[in-house]
Amino acid sequence: MIRRGMDFLLAPGPTHVPDRVLRAMNRPAVELSRPDFVATARSCFEDLRRVFRTSGRVFVYACNGHGAWEAAIVNTLSAGDRVLVPGTGHFSNGWGQMAQALGVEVEFLPTDWRRALDIGALEARLRGDRDRSIKAVLAVQTDTATGITSDIPAVRAALDAADHPALLLVDATASLGTVDLRMDDWRVDVTVSASQKGLMSPPGLGFTAVGERALALGRDAGMPRTYWNWYGRDVTESYRWFCGTAPEHLVWALRESLDMLLEEGLDAAFARHQRLADAVRAGVAQWARAGVVDFNAVVPAERSNSVTTVRLADGHDATAVRTLCSERFSVSLGGGLGDLGGKAFRIAHMGDVNEPTLLGGLGVVEAALDLLGIPHEKGAVSAAIASLNAGEDAVRAAAE
Ligand SMILES: *Cc1c(COP(=O)(O)O)cnc(C)c1O
Repeated sequence: MIRRGMDFLLAPGPTHVPDRVLRAMNRPAVELSRPDFVATARSCFEDLRRVFRTSGRVFVYACNGHGAWEAAIVNTLSAGDRVLVPGTGHFSNGWGQMAQALGVEVEFLPTDWRRALDIGALEARLRGDRDRSIKAVLAVQTDTATGITSDIPAVRAALDAADHPALLLVDATASLGTVDLRMDDWRVDVTVSASQKGLMSPPGLGFTAVGERALALGRDAGMPRTYWNWYGRDVTESYRWFCGTAPEHLVWALRESLDMLLEEGLDAAFARHQRLADAVRAGVAQWARAGVVDFNAVVPAERSNSVTTVRLADGHDATAVRTLCSERFSVSLGGGLGDLGGKAFRIAHMGDVNEPTLLGGLGVVEAALDLLGIPHEKGAVSAAIASLNAGEDAVRAAAE
């Protein structure tokens, strides 16, 4: 089949890479210590600190989010240490299982995958840890599988209320650049992220942002680490910032995407994500009126501004929706992960997204629901337009 026009990438990572970012990579490699390249790399480290809202250190790896997960674990923990993983869904499971495989004793707090991280259960468990054996809490800000964003300041408050010294490690892979994250204000010790979601860059870079306390405690952590080692990278010689040759093209891409994000302003980018996510949710709520389509997240305030996980009632095939959208209509959605396999599809709205992309995406999903005979109330695009325009009215009223 001949395909014309653009493909819409509405999967929750990798996300659409803007032309500006693509063009920034369209150049030859350079000798690895060239001063202009080193200056570009240095500026990325600096600006990433602004994005993480930290005065701590940022380490950049040639890897994906899984690599950054591993970097956070091996730099802070020793085999046999105990950590607490409050369940959020597929990604809390994944990070916890990785820690287990590395010899950490992992305690999971259960979740039903339809609600945010359970702050009450977390605080109770921390209070119950009388001998303070829990070394770290591993918390996912936005679980990309469930489409739910958890309250990280409340996680910090739970640690404080229990007067517990555990390190707070946060996975912001799907939330950085899309919703507020204040590493220093919230006293997050380590934040993990990657280039290919809210940051609009190609896949291939992973980040750990590290506060003073984690940097000091991590020195004595006992896990073997070479490539991931923070301390080998925290030196003046630029070759060692990347533990070898820098992924130059990805650094140029990151430079351009950081420029785009900082030009827009973090708060404006968060407001854009909120407005577009509200529009997608208005569309999904319209389909949901017929009782078969539903939000995975049962609490509206917990629905993520990065991705919406849409469930179908038993007996309906979410994979078929996704396949039809992609093969017939050039719109790529995310599939259901883990417990949601076959039961859900996911519409991402993070990074370089705008109104036409999302209105087009909603229109295509509605066409697919129609063709597959999946009961839904028609009119998601109109509902999304109403949501967007209500926002415009509010903006206009405020300006008058
Ligand atoms: C995407 C994602 C990861 C894993 O990232 P990869 O780059 O696919 O390894 C981890 N955590 C969250 C919350 C994610 O969204």
